[in-house]
Amino acid sequence: MPKYDFDLFVIGAGSGGVRSARLAAQLGKRVGVAEESKPGGTCVVRGCVPKKFLVYGAEYGASIESAKAYGWRVDKARFHWPTLRDSIQSEVNRLSGIYASILEKNGATLYSERAEFVDAHTVRLKQSGKKITAETILIAVGGRPFMPDVKGIEHAIMSDDAFLLETLPERALIIGGGYIACEFAGIYAGLGVKTVQAYRGDRLLNGFDEDVRSEVGEAQLHNKIELRFNVSPTEIKKTGGGYIVTFNDGTKIGTDMVFMGTGRMPHTLGLGLENAGVKIDGKGAVIVDEFSKTNKRNIYAVGDVTNRVNLTPVAIREGVAFVETVYKGTPTAFDHENIASAVFTRPPVGSVGLSEAQAFKAYGKSVTVYTTKFRPMKNVLSGKPHQCFMKLIAEGKSERVIGIHIVGDDSPEIIQALGICVKAGLTKADFDRTCAVHPTLAEEIVTLKQRVI
Ligand code: NDP
Repeated sequence: MPKYDFDLFVIGAGSGGVRSARLAAQLGKRVGVAEESKPGGTCVVRGCVPKKFLVYGAEYGASIESAKAYGWRVDKARFHWPTLRDSIQSEVNRLSGIYASILEKNGATLYSERAEFVDAHTVRLKQSGKKITAETILIAVGGRPFMPDVKGIEHAIMSDDAFLLETLPERALIIGGGYIACEFAGIYAGLGVKTVQAYRGDRLLNGFDEDVRSEVGEAQLHNKIELRFNVSPTEIKKTGGGYIVTFNDGTKIGTDMVFMGTGRMPHTLGLGLENAGVKIDGKGAVIVDEFSKTNKRNIYAVGDVTNRVNLTPVAIREGVAFVETVYKGTPTAFDHENIASAVFTRPPVGSVGLSEAQAFKAYGKSVTVYTTKFRPMKNVLSGKPHQCFMKLIAEGKSERVIGIHIVGDDSPEIIQALGICVKAGLTKADFDRTCAVHPTLAEEIVTLKQRVI
């Protein structure tokens, strides 16, 4: 009779949790998984996947406009929100079902309930009250939107709600300047909503390369998003027909929807971590070592709940490394350096490695910077004002490439391949030796000239 009900119990069936559970089950481990919502986690259910469909939806509006210059006449084009919303939800449900069946097919047991720690080897399922023991427990509960302490905050929606709106508002106010705020401002504006984006800083996408931040600001303006900088909301008041939002500079905005894109935090509240003696940091993130192990020998954590790099593919890789470490006897630490990522604004951002400021801080005068800015061919006939911006940052005599940043159509697709180059430590000379693919937007990356200041 085994000492525990399961070899591994995973709390959270998102990207990191499901990958870990599947791989462990495939090795013959007895695996249990608890999920309080739909399997698939934030990425599949209320994040990356439905968001990208919304971005596609928003882009169609602009494409219909641009198509005129290509000879197409699309008369009386209208957008119908329920069609897009419901098609996305059908796909989300299909994908969520696939996540559940991956677990089932591999012999893992899925409990559709919230689980909370009783002690370091025991969890209790919230609805049924059932207690389950496991030799190893993996915390993969992800994160949740952070709603700041603003008077009337109950009137605001968060990204979770945005996918299920009954009707699309005429006017939307997006608070925040990060990934989610910039992406959703682009989505709403593209769907025909009169959109204002208000951010407490002076340039969008804090932490990104400064030029990228400026370019994204310009793109938002081209997309008819009204930008307001250096303001934070202090009150949201419901009125007869909508909301009045007051900012800390005394200004007010009337809107039909207030969307808080003000960050996410680890979803550890009420998880009973104190019962298991698991340590968290000031932001509520589970503290782990490079092998994703907590301060308790048998408890691990992967994904956004650890607040390392909060991206789906990272959670997956951390999960794979966890299984290598714990079940294959090969201690594996996922390398968090040079992870390429994208922001799905319109056009999107593709970014890998250091920003220019970070590069100069790390390598001083040995840094060289190459940039270009041009109107993509696709926008020439249509007269679309959006430009494409590229920056390549190199260091040292060999000019090792340590950062690439693109704002332009298809940049997420391009940066995936360029991420390999940066990870492999290629040099500017390697880029120069590579022949261009013509005519493409991506070819500019192999013909870049040094920036003249
Ligand atoms: P971000 O951290 O990117 O942005 C949060 C924004 O909210 C910042 O502009 C921040 O300002 C602002 N903010 C924070 N607190 C307040 C406050 N009290 N009042 C007013 N403004 C505030 O978080 P997101 O929620 O956009 O995204 C969370 C994470 O999810 C991202 O960091 C990313 O890792 C991941 N993600 C990735 C995506 C992708 O890969 N495409 C898409 C969406 C999310 P300030 O900058 O001044 O701190």
